[in-house]
Amino acid sequence: MRFSGLRVLKEGLTGNRGWTPHWRDPEPKSEYDILIIGGGGHGLSTAYYLARKHGLRNIAVLEKGYIGGGNVGRNTTIVRANYFLPGNSEFYSHSLKLWEGLEQDLNYNVMHSQRGIINLFHSDGQRDAAARRGNAMINQGDDAELLDRDGVRRFAPYLDFENLRFPIYGGLYHKRGGTARHDAVAWGYARGADSRGVDLIQNCEVTGIDIEGGAVQGVQTTRGAIRASKVGIVVAGRSSQVAAMAGMRLPVESHVLQAFVTEGLKPVVDQVITFGMGHFYISQSDKGGLVFGGDIDMYASYAARGNLPAVEHVMEAGMALMPMIGKAKVLRSWGGIMDMTPDGSPIIDRTGIEGLFLNCGWNYGGFKAVPASGDCFAHLMATGRPHPVATGFRLDRFRTGHGILDEEGTGAQHNLH
Ligand SMILES: Cc1cc2nc3c(=O)[nH]c(=O)nc-3n(C[C@H](O)[C@H](O)[C@H](O)COP(=O)(O)OP(=O)(O)OC[C@H]3O[C@@H](n4cnc5c(N)ncnc54)[C@H](O)[C@@H]3O)c2cc1C
Repeated sequence: MRFSGLRVLKEGLTGNRGWTPHWRDPEPKSEYDILIIGGGGHGLSTAYYLARKHGLRNIAVLEKGYIGGGNVGRNTTIVRANYFLPGNSEFYSHSLKLWEGLEQDLNYNVMHSQRGIINLFHSDGQRDAAARRGNAMINQGDDAELLDRDGVRRFAPYLDFENLRFPIYGGLYHKRGGTARHDAVAWGYARGADSRGVDLIQNCEVTGIDIEGGAVQGVQTTRGAIRASKVGIVVAGRSSQVAAMAGMRLPVESHVLQAFVTEGLKPVVDQVITFGMGHFYISQSDKGGLVFGGDIDMYASYAARGNLPAVEHVMEAGMALMPMIGKAKVLRSWGGIMDMTPDGSPIIDRTGIEGLFLNCGWNYGGFKAVPASGDCFAHLMATGRPHPVATGFRLDRFRTGHGILDEEGTGAQHNLH
């Protein structure tokens, strides 16, 4: 089933009876060539690119819940390529390029909106850092523009420019950044993988990983044992638990990150805005809700719900930046489990077990990475070699200390990244 304007018109005129399910609901087979554990954004995009770019078909994605029920469907949807360090910047640049062609590639409307991102700065020192980051982005081939205070005011007149503690000096404008509809991204990749023969097995929790003679043999699941000579672990916040099934202890801590959405308002926040003096970012959804978030909850947890001090912190930052937000009613908040690494950068690598591969450590920023992560992980699993834009995401950097990608310069503290 392909989507097109003509098809939408035809279905609209004939009672919408011609639409078919987006993907099948197959029974798991006893053996596949490749198993992907985790049906989130990264697992689904990996399966999609394995099928589309490498022509592999005998693949299953094993998801313990339902497709799109994890972080991929519960984030603040910011998509950007404004990274500073070599190792990260080429990867996110690659990801943004994939985003730009994604809807045509998937034949699916993921509502990718390049509305621009403005990272505010509030001191001369922050302006210098923003200029440096902008130059790195331009060197990488991405876009960046340094705005002064009036430049920001033209985009976002509702901000509190004269705040005595945090006056706004300007912002780094990344025009190609923006947002996308999170669950549509999961659905689009799921549909694309399914149509190429990948089995998406929902309600199928992996409970064990079978290893013999140092090589992976398959997995145990709540729907029986499944054999495969290649297995990819792509379970985001649950990475440490699933890797432990293979006897591995990962350099990952799991923390909760919350987000909030208000009642629907008339259009007011046209770009994505980030505060430079606290962790706060905001955009407005197409339904009108203000969507915003801040810091993680600062203690390790697997509970996908947040605590009140983090709520207070986010609201304070919002009020300092744009006092008008105090009049909006928050409709709901939610939390997801972040897989935080010591340097804030991800891991896409083999493991010490033959045939077992690892994709994790996405911290706060894994949604924007979904296309490149899937592309690079599929490349690694299919060819055995790292993709050229993902050579830095090695697992052993946390053992050797070489190649640490500390984008924020906050050191080896998971909860500060
Ligand atoms: C509130 C919030 C805001 C965020 N905002 C942004 C943002 O603005 N921009 C951005 O780039 N990133 C953002 N992120 C981060 C981003 O959402 C995550 O990094 C990314 O979604 C994680 O990868 P995933 O999509 O594969 O994870 P998930 O969707 O969580 O997928 C992992 C899947 O693995 C499954 N699983 C776990 N254990 C097992 C098992 N044993 N067997 C089978 N399946 C299993 C889970 O059920 C889950 O579906 C945010 C996250 C949160 C929570």
